Amino acid sequence: MNRVYNFSAGPSVLPEEVLETARDEMLNWHGSGMSVMEMSHRSKWYDEIIKKAETDLRDLMNIPSNYKVLFLQGGAWTQFAMVPMNLMKKGKADYVNTGSWSKKAISEARKYGKVNVVASSEDAGFTYIPELNPETFSRDADYFYITTNNTIYGTRYTKLPETGNVSLVADMSSNILSEVYDVTKFGLIFAGAQKNMGPAGVTVVIIREDLISDVQPEVPTMLQYKVHAENSSLFNTPPCYSIYICGLVFEWLKKLGGVPAMQKINEEKAAILYDFLDNSKMFKGTVRKEDRSLMNVPFVTGDKDLDARFVKEAEQKGLVNLKGHRSVGGMRASIYNAMPVEGVKKLVEFMKEFEAKNRI
Ligand SMILES: *Cc1c(COP(=O)(O)O)cnc(C)c1O
Repeated sequence: MNRVYNFSAGPSVLPEEVLETARDEMLNWHGSGMSVMEMSHRSKWYDEIIKKAETDLRDLMNIPSNYKVLFLQGGAWTQFAMVPMNLMKKGKADYVNTGSWSKKAISEARKYGKVNVVASSEDAGFTYIPELNPETFSRDADYFYITTNNTIYGTRYTKLPETGNVSLVADMSSNILSEVYDVTKFGLIFAGAQKNMGPAGVTVVIIREDLISDVQPEVPTMLQYKVHAENSSLFNTPPCYSIYICGLVFEWLKKLGGVPAMQKINEEKAAILYDFLDNSKMFKGTVRKEDRSLMNVPFVTGDKDLDARFVKEAEQKGLVNLKGHRSVGGMRASIYNAMPVEGVKKLVEFMKEFEAKNRI
């Protein structure tokens, strides 16, 4: 069996153990005589699966009981619209522009109300997290929006903005469960599953109960948090199989020691790569040091042809999907929770080899 080290930004690598369990349970889940794919979402078996997934996620993130956990569809993109549709009661929100995903969220929100962009790092190609000055925040905003980890540029917040009584909303798609967060600091957290939780198809929303309320009647039923909250994510058919795999990933993470243990491993993994980048004469990281992501590591040689050759030769060594996002160029190694330390070590080994062979 030839498994590669997959550095894809998403959909991305899953723990091998999880895939093996899914394989073993594929035809007959726990004596049910059927695959999870074939089960009614109203069956007692599926009830067990979705409840376990929720309980384990609550344990992992220490989610208080006054928060609902929702398993929705439509990806993070749908949340760009659902957030303003449900939360913009006064018609005003603050956003921080830290890159492409923030920008998309901002333009969706503008369809529903006034958006105040309090800070941006666009002036330097989103290579840093801008300084936030609470004096520029709108005191009467419905919420304050950030993207905790910027998948394309490889930046992340190392401290959260102090928003006072205004609820903090976070797109955590690419770093949920990778480091410890205090959920009580947020009003709403959302994340598409396909980076750090499971297969594409399910989007997790963690929302404080007081933010769940009736909305304008013209908001489509499927886009109302209240509907999903009242029906425990089973209003209509949920993405059953994706939720099941997320559940297996949560179990895997718990066995490993939970998020604090995972964070430690992630810090180790990222340090291996960043230390090499800081000392290399050929490869350079592109992000301001203090804002570096633990999950997505972009780097360049400064020479497009050399970049392309690196990506190609890495692929021949089983180190795949290292090409940078089309808007940034160069390379990007996504080293999510499921990327083993060995994968990062192999990558650095190959970078050393490549540098030695191509010394200018
Ligand atoms: C991948 C990603 C998205 C888009 O997710 P979809 O599920 O494709 O809608 C949004 N935000 C961030 C931070 C991402 O990494």
